[in-house]
Amino acid sequence: MNPIYADLPTTVFETMSALARETGAVNLGQGFPDDPGPLDVRRKAAEAVIEGWNQYPPMMGLPELRGAIAAHYRHWQGLDLDPASEVMVTSGATEALAGALLATVRPGDEVVLFEPMYDAYLPLVRRAGAVPRFVTLQPPHFRLTEEALAAAFTDRTRAVLFNNPLNPTATIFPDEDLELLARFCVRHDAVAICDEVWEHVVFDGHRHRPLIAFPGMRERTIKIGSAGKIFNLTGWKVGFVMAAPEIVKVLGKAHQFLTFTTPPNLQAAVAYGLGKEDSHFEDMRRDFARARDRFTAGLEGLGFRVIPSRGTYFVNIDIGASGETDDVAFCRRLVMDHGVAAIPVSAFYAEGSVRSVVRFCFAKRDETLDAALERLARVN
Ligand code: PMP
Ligand code: GLN
Repeated sequence: MNPIYADLPTTVFETMSALARETGAVNLGQGFPDDPGPLDVRRKAAEAVIEGWNQYPPMMGLPELRGAIAAHYRHWQGLDLDPASEVMVTSGATEALAGALLATVRPGDEVVLFEPMYDAYLPLVRRAGAVPRFVTLQPPHFRLTEEALAAAFTDRTRAVLFNNPLNPTATIFPDEDLELLARFCVRHDAVAICDEVWEHVVFDGHRHRPLIAFPGMRERTIKIGSAGKIFNLTGWKVGFVMAAPEIVKVLGKAHQFLTFTTPPNLQAAVAYGLGKEDSHFEDMRRDFARARDRFTAGLEGLGFRVIPSRGTYFVNIDIGASGETDDVAFCRRLVMDHGVAAIPVSAFYAEGSVRSVVRFCFAKRDETLDAALERLARVN
């Protein structure tokens, strides 16, 4: 057995969802919306199956989808991408992350990671044979600093793995931080693997700024997106990468032996969906922001200290404020005794060093959020 995997615990998302299923708890743990996703996009996928889009599609992705990705990001983020050489479709952002690391990192290279980090990152970095170097972001703003980056980058830095908007903190890095990171990547000739799956889920009038658009980054950024997050269809696992042609060529080599392709009916439906009118995406943001406000107000009303959510469909509470020192035990009590599943944020730290934050997913119907709040009222 490979010890890297043999010693890994099962991901907290699966563990918590399994506990929620067993106990009948309200599941605000694993991030998935209870909105079923846009009907016209789902209908397209169903029609595509019936029409016969069921054999292996081209390895790099359906041309229709690669074109739709380039058009979508030109419209929303002002990017100029050649669909034939700078865009590739993957089976979810997760495959894109794995492929990006396999394609860029050699054993012994260093990869800079920012804690708290999505739980897939560290095992993938280790399995690629790379050495992780951590920048620990500090609450409540989770900003980058010159000192922290200077301490993490070395002459062996090959890549950074960066997530913006950031899951689980629900924060967004300001332009100043992106410029700072870009300067370090250029200075150290590092590749930026930039996980931007939450780019459409941003609130309060914010518009997402992709790292690839910052000075010096066009040739060294692998931008990762996911239709699962863009359309509330998390189970579809349709992701994509955008990068300069030389990088995409190598990403294709990784992709060909990871999954090779992604279901063509889903690709066709996502190609259609990416062209939806602006109001679709604005309505989605407005609905999430309303749910965020409702749930945040409810939590605050119960006396929880809420860390404000600026993007993603998560919101965190600081349980340290009420004397709790073990987020895992707290979440276990929450699901077993009170019937609400949540995520202990220590799962997003390499050594579980922060144990005082708990994450909830608010992408739920009002009744679901209210049922959770009613149960949470018995906790404090
Ligand atoms: N990166 C981040 C930061 C995520 O939050 C998620 C899933 N929520 C993923 C990657 C995985 O995306 P996918 O389901 O498309 O593989
Ligand atoms: N990304 C989702 C979250 O943060 C879960 C994905 C998963 O289950 N691995 O909750």
